[in-house]
Amino acid sequence: MCHGCVKEEYPERENMCLDNGSFLRNFAGCAECRKLEIVRIENRKCTEDENGIELVTYQHVCLCCGHIIGQHEYTFKVEGEFQVYQMECILCGNGEDERSILPVDPRGPQLM
Ligand SMILES: [Zn+2]
Ligand SMILES: [Zn+2]
Ligand SMILES: [Zn+2]
Repeated sequence: MCHGCVKEEYPERENMCLDNGSFLRNFAGCAECRKLEIVRIENRKCTEDENGIELVTYQHVCLCCGHIIGQHEYTFKVEGEFQVYQMECILCGNGEDERSILPVDPRGPQLM
């Protein structure tokens, strides 16, 4: 995990959850080679454990020098009547989203 390549570590992304790609607006440039080039996705793995929790992990890697910018983690699970999405990444930030799997949300209409 690297702290030198990002503008902000683990920025708050609210309900934004990515299982692919990079949040380039938070990329400050590679701390090793100082290049602000395209970030490559490497070692992308998608697994599902015995509890039905889906885990997607991959690394953000500098295209120029192979420096590892960060490890990206995305999980998806069903908790009761909700689908829960979570993202944790030094570059892309932290996010969490919940969606009801029922046609009608049991919590009622969301008041703004
Ligand atoms: Zn770095
Ligand atoms: Zn680099
Ligand atoms: Zn990420």
